[in-house]
Amino acid sequence: MDVITLRRDFHRHPETAFTEFRTASKVVKILRSLGYSVLYGEEAMDCDVRKKVPPITIMEEAMQRALRDGADPEILQKMNDGLTAVIGILKGKKDGPVISFRFDMDALPITESDDLAHLPAAAGFRSQYEGFMHACGHDAHTAIGLALAERMVGLDFEGTLKLIFQPAEEGGWGGANSIVSKGIVDDVDKLFCLHLTQSLPLGSICGGSTGWMATTKMEAHFYGVSSHAGTAPEKGRNALLGAATALLNIHAQPRFNRSETRVNVGVLEGGTASNIIPDHAKMIIETRASDEEINKDLEKRVKSIIKHSAEMHDLNYEIKVTGEATTIYSDSELVNLVLEEARKISGFSLFQEIGDFGGSDDGSFLIRRVQERGGKATYMLIGSPMSTRRHSPNFDVDERTLPMTVELLLNVAKRVLFIS
Ligand SMILES: [Zn+2]
Ligand SMILES: [Zn+2]
Repeated sequence: MDVITLRRDFHRHPETAFTEFRTASKVVKILRSLGYSVLYGEEAMDCDVRKKVPPITIMEEAMQRALRDGADPEILQKMNDGLTAVIGILKGKKDGPVISFRFDMDALPITESDDLAHLPAAAGFRSQYEGFMHACGHDAHTAIGLALAERMVGLDFEGTLKLIFQPAEEGGWGGANSIVSKGIVDDVDKLFCLHLTQSLPLGSICGGSTGWMATTKMEAHFYGVSSHAGTAPEKGRNALLGAATALLNIHAQPRFNRSETRVNVGVLEGGTASNIIPDHAKMIIETRASDEEINKDLEKRVKSIIKHSAEMHDLNYEIKVTGEATTIYSDSELVNLVLEEARKISGFSLFQEIGDFGGSDDGSFLIRRVQERGGKATYMLIGSPMSTRRHSPNFDVDERTLPMTVELLLNVAKRVLFIS
């Protein structure tokens, strides 16, 4: 199995949160062919804890597209309703520790660049699904996970290897939490999450990371009364006005002395014409903080601002939390273990204990769960420098990092599972 060929195949077929049908069915197929016991569909995730799922029409379309592009229909049946998590389990010859690696599989709703300076366009593996793109490197993560799976087969070890292929990382819709809620990581002694990052040079490895912010994503709706803007403006209740009042006040929240914070209203929509008082407005908001309590405080304040802005304009309102993630603390035992193993691999030349990713990842809930139950976890960062930012149409990874990362994870697994 060539990790780069595999990555390019996933890159060509990007699927967003809870529609990773082709990707997940391919993961199931490969893991099965390697002799893993594979949990997927309802065995792998608790669908009720998801904060958000795509509309049924989008899911059906994605499923048809996956079938057309080679997904196994029998496997897909169990993934109905977006149950796209896959867990591969390989047991050693003797009992021992349970080690787990998390790989995220989802893509983003971005149209990929067709500029020939962009390698996927020039080399013929640009996204075949217009409007969707692997712009965060999860295609590479999934390929790395499968290549690791293959390398572990036939080794004589003590313990259990659990490979988690997680859907819906982007947006924090509950991909990770649905796996947590199913109890998948309850027996895990050591959990490793990773991300390729273009903010570090080639050859860089951080055994752990910081800067992961707790975040809450919310969708709010304001409901008013429409009316003629010329003949009866006073009969209307302007939903857009309530939303605009909320927007300004959400952004007017104070800084916090104990924590980095972010707040953003990313979407504000409403209204149909200049002569109609708008009766509906939709707003999409996120808060982030380097301290979990402070993020909760921000979330509470946002909800209060929406409530009072709606009241001020005599509107009804509704708020839904659509996504979340928490903070991450990497255990030093695993940070050191990763660095020690990376030093044995040619290609890694820059070693750092803790790197700063500066984002949010709901893998934080997997990490939190393992640590709460007495296990250890870390989130490592691997340098894969490219000139463009993540989540942009020209994003790419440096494919040279893929085989190196497979070697690293293999070494880490061997060390934990006592393979000399
Ligand atoms: Zn991302
Ligand atoms: Zn990512």
